Amino acid sequence: MSSGEDGDPRRRVPRTDTLLADTLLAAARDRLGDRVVKRAVQIAQDRVRRGELPVGRLLDTVLDSLPDAPTSLRRVINATGVVLHTNLGRAPLSEAAVAAVNTAAGYVDVEFDLTTGTRARRGRGALAALLTAVPDAQDALVVNNGAAALVLAATTLAPGREIVISRGELVEIGDGFRIPELLQSTGARLREVGTTNRTHLADYAAAVSDRTGFILKVHPSNFSMHGFTASVPVDQLATLGVPVVADIGSGLLAADPLLPGEPDAASWLRAGAGLVTASGDKLLGGPQAGLVLGTSELVGRLRRSPIHRALRVDKLTLAALEATLTGPPTPTRAALRADPTVLRGRAEHLARSLQDAGVPAAVVPSDGLVGAGGAPDLRLPGWAVALPEDHAAALRTGRPAVAARVEGGHCLLDLRCVPTVDDRALLGAVLAAAGRIDGTPPCT
Ligand SMILES: *Cc1c(COP(=O)(O)O)cnc(C)c1O
Repeated sequence: MSSGEDGDPRRRVPRTDTLLADTLLAAARDRLGDRVVKRAVQIAQDRVRRGELPVGRLLDTVLDSLPDAPTSLRRVINATGVVLHTNLGRAPLSEAAVAAVNTAAGYVDVEFDLTTGTRARRGRGALAALLTAVPDAQDALVVNNGAAALVLAATTLAPGREIVISRGELVEIGDGFRIPELLQSTGARLREVGTTNRTHLADYAAAVSDRTGFILKVHPSNFSMHGFTASVPVDQLATLGVPVVADIGSGLLAADPLLPGEPDAASWLRAGAGLVTASGDKLLGGPQAGLVLGTSELVGRLRRSPIHRALRVDKLTLAALEATLTGPPTPTRAALRADPTVLRGRAEHLARSLQDAGVPAAVVPSDGLVGAGGAPDLRLPGWAVALPEDHAAALRTGRPAVAARVEGGHCLLDLRCVPTVDDRALLGAVLAAAGRIDGTPPCT
């Protein structure tokens, strides 16, 4: 029988049960679940058996290898200057919305009247908030996203019928999502009118018939056409005697002077749209959701449609949406309106701290963007810290991860979408990334 230091390492590996019962690992199991912890234990045990890891380091190695959370989604500091970055989850929720989501995560009165003890209308708080925000709407609905709102409108108002749409508004939103294909997938037929660059009221008028389900007006949110162009405004379409469904996309509920090119729900409803559809996680700055606002008659028909049940949102979304509508200004609004002077001051402070630590950093002018295909021509003047380009990859893979903008051979850190409270975390992340590039330990 072998024993002692030079014995068979397999004999000295503590049993899985013994390890899992350790206080520190028990705490990790409470946080992460058994599976993740057990897997980490098995990997470390195998390394001990192969003689790669001293048995005395086993527990620490397991603890070091455990993730911070049981999910794979990782926090990202958005230093791209793009406010609604689709790849980073579009709008970040406000603190009020996060708190509301937290409350809604448990048992809540989402469909229950606590006074009478009977069933109540689901999401009535969020719907009331929506109607308060847009008094021009007689009724409102919330579904899963903007695409779902269009599907619900098409399946309810145009099954086997025609949707009249301008050829200039047959748009692709992103990642291959095309509005015409979405509409056709519901069984509705598209009746295209006009040309790519010019469509007139007479084109619509000639196409409207007893086969028409509705006229669809789509805001071409992610591109702009200049030159010899013409499109028909909602107030003229509303004279043709069929419902007008208007997809504004952006989620702007009322006109905003900062975004003069973006249509808003209130204006298009006043112009005569029967329904306006929009996203919750674009300019509104809330959770992913599809907002439907309009007349009692049309919204009521959508609500009674069987497919409405398949597209409805969960209590977390309703909670976040209500808090977004009634609570303090959203991070999206703050980022869109960030004061360039303040951005410059923060960038200079960050650059100085980096220079003091030997990281080459300079402050440069940098334009932010709305993003998520919104207001593509709008530039938001600001400032960024420029680093050598190779810092971008190191920043992305750090903790917290930082998404920067790579432009003109530089890695740009634009602070527009970085909450001020994260400035220190960003500094730490850059120092750690620079340390990894130099092969030196991070200076903190
Ligand atoms: C973004 C957008 C959509 C899609 O909305 P989702 O919420 O992403 O489903 C539809 N139409 C327009 C005009 C848009 O800009």
